[in-house]
Amino acid sequence: MPRWPTQAVHGPATGSQQRPAFRQRRSVAWVEVRRAEATVTSWRADPVEVSWFARLAGHAASRSGFAAAGATEQTPTQAMSAIHLIGPADYVPMRVLALVVLALQAPPFSHSVSRVTASQLPYSWHAGCPVAPAQLRRVRLAYWGFDRKPHVGAVVVNADAVGDVVRVFARLYAARFPIRRMRPIDAYRASDERSLEADNTAAFNCRYAVAPGPKRWSVHAFGRAIDVNPVENPYLEGGRVHPRSGRAYLNRARVRPGMAVSGGSLVRAFGAVGWAWGGRWTGSPDYQHFSSTGG
Ligand SMILES: [Zn+2]
Repeated sequence: MPRWPTQAVHGPATGSQQRPAFRQRRSVAWVEVRRAEATVTSWRADPVEVSWFARLAGHAASRSGFAAAGATEQTPTQAMSAIHLIGPADYVPMRVLALVVLALQAPPFSHSVSRVTASQLPYSWHAGCPVAPAQLRRVRLAYWGFDRKPHVGAVVVNADAVGDVVRVFARLYAARFPIRRMRPIDAYRASDERSLEADNTAAFNCRYAVAPGPKRWSVHAFGRAIDVNPVENPYLEGGRVHPRSGRAYLNRARVRPGMAVSGGSLVRAFGAVGWAWGGRWTGSPDYQHFSSTGG
């Protein structure tokens, strides 16, 4: 059953906690702008890349609402010229350029959904599990790593959770929220501890709940819960910390990349699709845990 908090375990992140992250993002953008000026020049010789550049430039310009750029309707050469006319002292055009550069360096968010069979879940599923493989889906998702590069991972979730999960990870991708790794838990022979210690983000696992008391299926056994960055977001249960390396992140007030905090990108992304956050459980907060059921 859901354990709703009687009060928030943590207050909302304060402005002073948010501001450094904002500054960091901005400084990254400026650095990227300088790198891109050199890169753009080198792309002049390659018509395929130039065409791609123009398409992305148009996409970024239209997304940013900077209609005056009109790059969508321009030829690649015109689009390139428009970019080169932007003066470094002009703040607004530089922001547009930064957006173009970010779009250039990052493939757009992508995902794909496929069915799974029992043979594809050799450790995480067995006869007697509360859901059949036919009710599960493997969702490949683009995500940003701690290396600030785009990656593709996969989670196994219930078919009825696919839409929510895709929306959440599209949001996290847009926010460049860092995720350590994302592999179905069969990669760890369905060992929760091994997956957690690897800081792996995973969802389906046909196992019982960790909490004390009578044995009952975990929400993970239904594919309706996902653990995100478990080292940065440990589970505190009866004086134990899962995983052990999560002890470095017990101080939740010191917000570091990849952490789930009230008001942060991760908690807001799941909140937007109505999923509950285990970090709000009083007594035994599970900071890594998000579920559609609240359990
Ligand atoms: Zn969990």
